[in-house]
Parts: sequence; C-alpha cells; structure tokens
Amino acid sequence: MDSNYTVLARKYRSQDFASLIGQDVLVKTLTTAINTGRIAHAYIFTGIRGTGKTSTARILAKALNCLSTDGPTASPCGVCENCRAIAAGQHIDVMEIDAASHTGVDNMREILDAVQYRPTNGRYKIYIIDEVHMLSISAFNALLKTLEEPPAHVVFILATTDIRKVPVTILSRCQRFDLVRVPVETLKKHFAKIAENEKIELTDAANELLARAADGSVRDGLSLLDQAIAQTGGHVDETAVLNMLKRADRGVVMDMMETILSGDTAAALERVDEIYNNGADLSMLLTDMMEWTHWATRMHPALHAGDATSAPYTLDQRNKIRDINSHTTLNTLSRLWQVMVASVPEMQASGNQKQCFDMLVVRMMHIAEMPPVNEILKNNAVAQPVVKPVATTPTTPKATTITSATELASALQADKEILLYSYYTTNIEVAEFAPQKIVFFDRGNDAEFTQKLNAWLNKKTGKIWNLERTTASTHTQTVTEQKHDEIIADPMVRDAMNLFEGAEIVDSNK
Ligand SMILES: [Zn+2]
Repeated sequence: MDSNYTVLARKYRSQDFASLIGQDVLVKTLTTAINTGRIAHAYIFTGIRGTGKTSTARILAKALNCLSTDGPTASPCGVCENCRAIAAGQHIDVMEIDAASHTGVDNMREILDAVQYRPTNGRYKIYIIDEVHMLSISAFNALLKTLEEPPAHVVFILATTDIRKVPVTILSRCQRFDLVRVPVETLKKHFAKIAENEKIELTDAANELLARAADGSVRDGLSLLDQAIAQTGGHVDETAVLNMLKRADRGVVMDMMETILSGDTAAALERVDEIYNNGADLSMLLTDMMEWTHWATRMHPALHAGDATSAPYTLDQRNKIRDINSHTTLNTLSRLWQVMVASVPEMQASGNQKQCFDMLVVRMMHIAEMPPVNEILKNNAVAQPVVKPVATTPTTPKATTITSATELASALQADKEILLYSYYTTNIEVAEFAPQKIVFFDRGNDAEFTQKLNAWLNKKTGKIWNLERTTASTHTQTVTEQKHDEIIADPMVRDAMNLFEGAEIVDSNK
C-alpha cells in the first residue's frame, strides 16, 4: 500500500456543517444560532466515539473565525488562512487540549492563564477540550472559574463520551448538544459514496455488515472499511468482511437457531464445531444469535407488530424467520434470550469459550424443548385417564368411573365444574378413596359442598356414592398440594424455576 495513504476517517472528515453525517438536529440548531449572532461562551458536545464531536468542534471554530465574512458564518469558506489552519489543527488561537493527558490543575491553570490575552489572528480564542470528563476535580474548579466570567473573545468547546462524569456546575454554563448514533442507512450511503470516490468495489451486503458493525460511529465504520480495503486490495465483498469481523454468515446463524429450536442436540453441537473450526469468534456468534432472537421476537405474530422493516435480513431470511415463528412461542424466544444474556459474562470470564458455548447450546436446546410452566401444570392436571364430557347427549350421560382423588379432580375439571373443582382441590384432604366411597376432611367445612359433590358423582357415574366427612384433619395433602410437590420434583420445572429467580408455580387454570 501507498505510504502516503491517509486513513479514510481523516481524509473524509467533515469540513462543514453541511457534510456532517447524521447530526441533523445539531446542525440546524447551531447554524441558526450562528446566523442570528447568538454565540455562547461554552458548548459541550456529547456522544459515543466517532460520531463527530471533534469534527463539529473544528467546524464551529472555523465558523467563528472564518475570514470570508465580517462576522461568524454558518458556512465557513474552508480556504481562507484561518479555515485552513484550523482544519490542520495549527491555528494559533484555537487550542486543542486532550483532557486525558492534561488532567491536573497545574496544566489547566497554565492553559487558562492565557485566556485574558486577545486572539492573534481570529475573532475568538477557542479552547477545544476533548474528553473533558477526564479532568481532575481541581482542574474542573479552575475551569469553572473561567467559565463563570469568560472574557468576551473566548469560546470553550468541550467534548465528552461520558457526560455523567462532568460536574453539573460546568454543564449548567454550557450549551449542550447530543450527537446521536449515526443510523445504519446513513452510514451505508456515506460509505458507498466514499467507495465510489476511492474507486473500490464495495458490495451492498458488505456495506451493510460494516455499517452495522460500526454501531453508529462513522470513524469506527471507516477504519473497518480501511482494514477491508487493505485485506482485499479493493474488492470488498460479504465474505471478506465476515472473515475480517470473524463473524459467521447470517445464514449460518439462521441455521444454528433453527437447529436449536428443532431440538436436535447432536446436529447443533456439530454445527458449533463447524463454525468454530471455520474461525468464527464464538462471542460474536453469541451476539449474532441474540440479534436473531431479538428480531424473531420483534417479528413474532403474537406481538401483532410483525415489525421487520429494519431487520438486518434478506427477504428469504425473513420468510424463514416467519416460518420458524409459526411454531415457536414468544415465551420460548424470551427464555432463550435470557439464557444467552446470562452467558455473556460467562463467555468473557471463561478461559475456554468453546466449552462454554457448547454448554450454552445444550441449555438452549433444553429450553426450546421445554413447554411453558403453565402448560406443564395443565398437562399434569389432565394427564390421568379422563373421560371427555359427552356433549352430544347431555340427558343420558355415559357412566364414568372415578377411582382416585386425582381422577376426581380431573373429571371435575373436564366437566367444567370449576367451583367444585377448585374447592375440592384446595380444601379437601382425602383420607380414603374406595369404589363409591370417599372419606375426607373438609378444611373449609362447607356442608353444601358435600351435597353438591355427591349429586354430581351420582349423576356422573350412575352410582350411589357414600361421602364421609371426618371431623378432624387427616393430615393428608389436598390435590393441589400433591400436584405442587410433583411439579417441583420434575427436573425440567426445577430448571425453569432456577432460571427465573423468585418464580412461583401458579395454576393457570384458576
Ligand atoms: Zn474561511
């Protein structure tokens, strides 16, 4: 590569407000203020790295000191002596200070001592303090003193990635601007234009990957593009970018999720081996799988949103997700998400990512197969041989045999005798269950219940029952208590309970 190669981020640094990428609100507010002569003494720009804080600071400095007009202008010429010196970071009246290396109070005093002197070549003396949150408390105090009574010819432009660490006393004296994450579409347009300018080939799929990996930062995106150009000699396609990012193809991620949701453990683990051997970074794969789960959830029909407009998938892939969604519940997706989120720190801490990932996949498969807790409850409640209510001939019901306390519960439920069912399952301790005979204690002491149950049993089974209430507790469990214990003993339910801290078993049928 050419030794004079200028990195793209520097070469394509925005030189005026019009070319500032993705910061429309800021541009509009600032240009209006400058055009109407409302110049503040202090500005603070905040936002993630690479969104254009320093670029904006320099553009603002040019706007204040450009020689093409009599006063400050929202469209600095870019060619006058002042504009050029500022763009190169060499203007005598524009001081760029990196707070990270000037944290102490002595540094700050030294810098601020010069504030009182008038500017040499410009209208304003401009102090750009980058990463201002790094200053020490005493340095902040020194700065605050100057901000309280700034000379008319001085403008401070502070920039920070961490606004919460900047004292409120400082913030209250600054005009604040938040630089937003640059949207993927805006980044893509920007990168495509640069690629055209640089005469390099950049496929749309590759551009999409770069723009997403940039996560809102123009600078990060451009340095990735630099790297991709260097590695490919100017033919940047999807495969090259995937390799560079050590990422598995979205198709691969899709297959992986499909395999997990289909419950084929052996195939899923084989997939992981394959992806790992192809050099993909497993924590990136985890990120991609989380992204997939997030979008599958957003697109799930149960949410009625069906939002797929900004999903990073092709039409085919979206159709595939819809297909998978048609037999996957929202519940399963959100449980998968939880397990994956829990694995992120685990993956980072583990010395062996591969082992960690294998175990994660096994856990995910377990969850994908597991019915929701309320389903388990429902199934348990009707798992016993229950005779379906005969709806067609209600006048001559077929005789039913009921031979145990739990069968009775199921039969009541199946017959939609909800009041009897719930009273029976929560209040009745069955001491003895013989053919047509039940000996029980009624915790609720409701004589009417006995009558009603008796009537129902007679009608249902076509036989006369003998219901015997004891006066003292028989110290046996009610059906609900038994069921609760059985469910707790189920290893799948125990897993689910462990997964959701503070979870409780509730009967969804009540
Ligand atoms: Zn100029």
